[in-house]
Amino acid sequence: MNAKPKLAVWKFASCDGCQLSLLDCEDELLAIADQIEIANFPEASRAVVEGPYDVSLVEGSITTPHDLKRIQEVREQSKILVTIGACATAGGIQALRNFADVNEFIRQVYANPHYIQTLATSTPIADHVPVEFELRGCPINKTQLLEVLLALLNQRVPNIPKHSVCMECKMQQCVCVMVSRNMPCLGPVTQAGCGALCPSYDRGCFGCFGPKETPNTEALAEWWQADLGMTSEQTQHAFRTFNGWSEPFRKPFHEPVPIVIQQSNRDPFPDSDDSLQE
Ligand code: SF4
Ligand code: SF4
Ligand code: SF4
Repeated sequence: MNAKPKLAVWKFASCDGCQLSLLDCEDELLAIADQIEIANFPEASRAVVEGPYDVSLVEGSITTPHDLKRIQEVREQSKILVTIGACATAGGIQALRNFADVNEFIRQVYANPHYIQTLATSTPIADHVPVEFELRGCPINKTQLLEVLLALLNQRVPNIPKHSVCMECKMQQCVCVMVSRNMPCLGPVTQAGCGALCPSYDRGCFGCFGPKETPNTEALAEWWQADLGMTSEQTQHAFRTFNGWSEPFRKPFHEPVPIVIQQSNRDPFPDSDDSLQE
């Protein structure tokens, strides 16, 4: 009898939300547990089975010199590498640093910035190593994750929709917030997977599932400015969220507005005894 395929889960710069989607599978994972061996998943167990691994799920983006080295090691140990979530596939919300001077952020956030070792940018995993499949979302959809795992186990291509959130929105019979309320919505350029969650609550989509296949982001940005009266700056801000560093979401802005970091007036030690800071 063949050994079970070994699954590993790796974390880079991220919030762990996509790994939690895997833990959230609970019952479904039990159903496939006799077909795979979860060999390395620190969020679920301290037990580690050494590589190589048949499938690696990678969460998070590359933000430090150590990440640059570690992702090469993960790639070497992995037969199939799947990136999960907006951080791993597009750089994540932390890629907002790419539009600014990262040293300014460091000065604002850390009391002792000289201890911080970071890269100037946050970049997706595919910028550094070959990736077999990218699963989008912030966080990912657990049903889509299971589909990817089952497809890989059965040596077929995962059946993940490439069409837009608008298709799901129409299937849910939601009233279009962009047409009826002049509210900006990234649904036309965002990949399906959430069941049009935000429009079903009367809100525009802010693109957490990232760009759909062949998205016409330039046309949408032009339409927002011409018909919704949005400024170029407002339009850029709407595109700059979890997937703001993805190429299609950057494309409409030939002269991107840099992010200006405001000086913070807050007291970094609000409840502390001043004498302790000296
Ligand atoms: S994609 Fe979103 S949920 Fe997933 S790790 Fe990144 S920030 Fe967290
Ligand atoms: S509300 Fe958004 S997702 Fe729904 S149809 Fe309108 S543009 Fe598309
Ligand atoms: S509607 Fe858009 S922002 Fe809302 S959950 Fe779906 S993809 Fe994410």
